[in-house]
Amino acid sequence: MKHLKTIALLALVVMLAACENKMQSTNTDTQETENLIFAKGEKINNDNFTGTVWLNNLVNADSVNQSAVGSVTFEPGARTKWHAHPAGQIILALDGVGYYQEERKEKVIVRKGEVVKCPIDVPHWHGASADSAFVQIAITGREKGETVWLNPVTDEEYHK
Ligand code: MN
Repeated sequence: MKHLKTIALLALVVMLAACENKMQSTNTDTQETENLIFAKGEKINNDNFTGTVWLNNLVNADSVNQSAVGSVTFEPGARTKWHAHPAGQIILALDGVGYYQEERKEKVIVRKGEVVKCPIDVPHWHGASADSAFVQIAITGREKGETVWLNPVTDEEYHK
């Protein structure tokens, strides 16, 4: 009888271990955005973006620091609309694989550890690649006014 109990307990442990393994192996979508320094923040609920995007406002601009700093997490396929920054923007790629494109230029792939400078008033967009999430820190100059939002990035533009 004692033997049976031990076997039942062992079977349970094996089942639980298998279950945990399965959970880990199906968790690859979120794995690349785990263990980051900054929290994902809140889901963005405005129409300046396509797809699911998260924002953690790290620094608000003020009279001393004239740039806003935010951590932005784009789920695969998600992106900004076309837009322009009156005082430019710096993008620090923290994780995943992203896309960046300026008007009249080719789309470029942005990888973890890379830095992009968005020039003043140049229309552009950025976001995740089709297959991978993308996490960026955006440092946005605010001394010359707010971001100017333009048209959505069409699927054709996005995949080109
Ligand atoms: Mn931008």
